[in-house]
Amino acid sequence: MNSMREVEVVVIGAGQAGLSSAYHLRRTGFEPDRDFVVLDHSPGPGGAWRFRWPSLTYGKVHGMHALPGMELTGADPARPSSEVITEYFAEYERAFDLRVRRPVDVRAVREGEDGRLLVETSDGTWSTRALINATGTWDRPFWPRYPGQETFRGRQLHTAQYPGPEAFAGQRVVVVGGGASGTQHLLEIAEHAAATTWVTRRPPVFREGPFTEEYGRAAVALVEERVRQGLPPKSVVSVTGLPLNDAIRQGIEDGVLDRRPMFDRITPDGVAWNDGRHSRHIAADVILWATGFRAAIDHLAPLKLREPGGGIRVEGTRSVADPRVHLVGYGPSASTIGANRAGRAAVRDIRRLLAEEPVAA
Ligand SMILES: Cc1cc2nc3c(=O)[nH]c(=O)nc-3n(C[C@H](O)[C@H](O)[C@H](O)COP(=O)(O)OP(=O)(O)OC[C@H]3O[C@@H](n4cnc5c(N)ncnc54)[C@H](O)[C@@H]3O)c2cc1C
Repeated sequence: MNSMREVEVVVIGAGQAGLSSAYHLRRTGFEPDRDFVVLDHSPGPGGAWRFRWPSLTYGKVHGMHALPGMELTGADPARPSSEVITEYFAEYERAFDLRVRRPVDVRAVREGEDGRLLVETSDGTWSTRALINATGTWDRPFWPRYPGQETFRGRQLHTAQYPGPEAFAGQRVVVVGGGASGTQHLLEIAEHAAATTWVTRRPPVFREGPFTEEYGRAAVALVEERVRQGLPPKSVVSVTGLPLNDAIRQGIEDGVLDRRPMFDRITPDGVAWNDGRHSRHIAADVILWATGFRAAIDHLAPLKLREPGGGIRVEGTRSVADPRVHLVGYGPSASTIGANRAGRAAVRDIRRLLAEEPVAA
């Protein structure tokens, strides 16, 4: 279908951030299909949760906040979070009649006529007065490059493809990355693998004591300051440090979480360090890159929102360069609670914008 359809607001992405935004649009009188559409390129509900590995059970997920207006109750902590949250999101979309269109892949957003934006998709083009971009990071796994990487004869994979620990039975696994994913992978894989090695660029920071609201706010403020300056956001988790819980303590004690500095190069059968005087090699069958994700915002490139620093400057959720564009779930709002709040804030701001600037007749 290639016809042009007109709406007031297009929401791209139906994860926590997109659904929260759609909920607030609906609550404030916007009708789905008539006034707004939600477009998502996944085959079904759940946002990125749909694709998370089976051993990430609901009980292992920390601080998953329910979407606004409907609690997630009675979930079995032993079930995979991918199932629990996908079902919850599906129910949520039905309950609030959000009519998410999928699979619809947004390929580019461009300047249109009369102050409108054109959203070009696999299912034709939408013309809109405002845009809520809620595309998350899952679609853009970050793979660093190291010398010799292409010569490695074993298997390399990223967290985004992590199949669960059983797949590594009997293998020698190098896990790269000092975040929550890397440590969770290691603790699980160590029970099945022949050997594990943990390498990180910087020494990991373990955080003692409870994760207070104040601590969370301070961490979010750090990320907020970066996006205000137009720098690429860091994940909120990267500034909060790793919680020193029982599992992590045990991993340190058992030597599973014994971190080494980043290797210098990859060889056909492992990884190697060389500081000029000493060299060391560890044989490996698998390199698992738990090296995080970047914002999936390439489709916004035609709008030229990026600053020289590489990020999009954002005040609240609004792009400073283009007030029609809101980024929800980006930078400081890249957590389930942040995405909830940001969805509400973006809708409030967009309502103001639409009221101020009636479209040219
Ligand atoms: C392993 C892992 C565990 C996490 N655990 C927690 C936790 O316990 N608590 C917490 O608060 N946060 C957690 N987070 C962060 C959390 O995932 C996010 O805060 C939140 O779920 C992200 O929601 P989102 O809507 O921004 O993105 P997503 O859930 O990624 O949704 C984005 C949606 O946009 C769609 N999309 C992307 N690009 C396009 C396009 N071009 N066209 C159309 N559709 C598109 C995707 O299909 C997807 O459905 C975790 C993250 C990871 C990686």
